[in-house]
Formats: sequence, structure tokens, C-alpha cells
Amino acid sequence: MIKTLGVDFDGVIHRYSKGWFDGTIYDEPMPGAFNGLRLLMQRYAMFIHTARSARQVAEWLAKHGFETCVEDEIHAPMKFWTDRDRLLVTNRKLPATAYLDDRAVKFTSWELALAELLPKAAKEASSVGDDQVLVPVEDLRRAVQLARCHAESFSCTTTTTEDLAAVQRLLGQVGSEKR
Ligand SMILES: [Mg+2]
Repeated sequence: MIKTLGVDFDGVIHRYSKGWFDGTIYDEPMPGAFNGLRLLMQRYAMFIHTARSARQVAEWLAKHGFETCVEDEIHAPMKFWTDRDRLLVTNRKLPATAYLDDRAVKFTSWELALAELLPKAAKEASSVGDDQVLVPVEDLRRAVQLARCHAESFSCTTTTTEDLAAVQRLLGQVGSEKR
């Protein structure tokens, strides 16, 4: 079965260093883009998914040596793209095995998606209760190691300034949270 890939244009193929700018395709290709597209075309049917005019993008790609077509030149609206000989340029998101996009947030769960897109809200939602204190895990690890060391010998000679700083940070954290 032929697998299909959807590829974003701006920021993935077109370098897009100034953003939308004047609406033209003004920039250079992303480093490695053309080689990458050619390699992927050997394995996948590829369509370029863009919010731009499909014809504008198809012409730019053709100018750089790619066989292209736009959706309305074929038999629109199509359900699948399975042609490996040319790049389809379309404004529609067709079914694909994967989508290559510089602004994608990979979905695994709503919890992680919200944590990435609304970090402030996620932090508030998981805020600690009155009887809890948030501490850096590295500091806590250090403090536990130190406590073990002291428990096992009369004098712990391995205490470093970093250890002491970590303990002080923990104590400061506990103090300020309890105030
Ligand atoms: Mg993009």
C-alpha cells in the first residue's frame, strides 16, 4: 500500500524567515528541503498542504525542478493522494500517514496538549495544596543523599558547596511557602 505524507510549505520547504511579509514566496528554500522531498518521494505519495494559493506554490516548486499539480487540475475533490511521480499542492488536509509541519504540536493526550498550549493554566490547574510545597527534584535528591550519608557515618565529609546550596534552597522554599 502506498503511504501518503502531507508537508507544510512555509517554514518547512520555504524558509519563511520574515513570516508572511508581503505574501510573495520571497525566501530561499529551507536547507535540505529539495533533497529531502526527492528522497521522500521515492517512498511516499506527497502532497504540499498550504494556506497559500496552491498555484503560487506549485509554480515555485516547478521552477525548482519538481513535477507538480494543483488539485483543481485533476478531478477535485479527491479523497486520497497516491501518486509518487509528482507533488500535489492543495489547500485541503488530505488523509496521510504523517504531516510534516513546523508549527505542529504532536498530540498524545489532551493533558499534554493543554500543558504545551496553555502552560499557565496547566500550572494553575495542578497547583499544590496548602499542606504541600513544590521543590526542585534535583535539590530534593541531593538532600536525600546527604541525609543518608549523615545517617550512615558520624561525620559526612562529602558535603559540597552545591549540596549546602541545595539544602538552603529547600529550606528557603519550605519557609516561604509556609509563611
Ligand atoms: Mg509552516
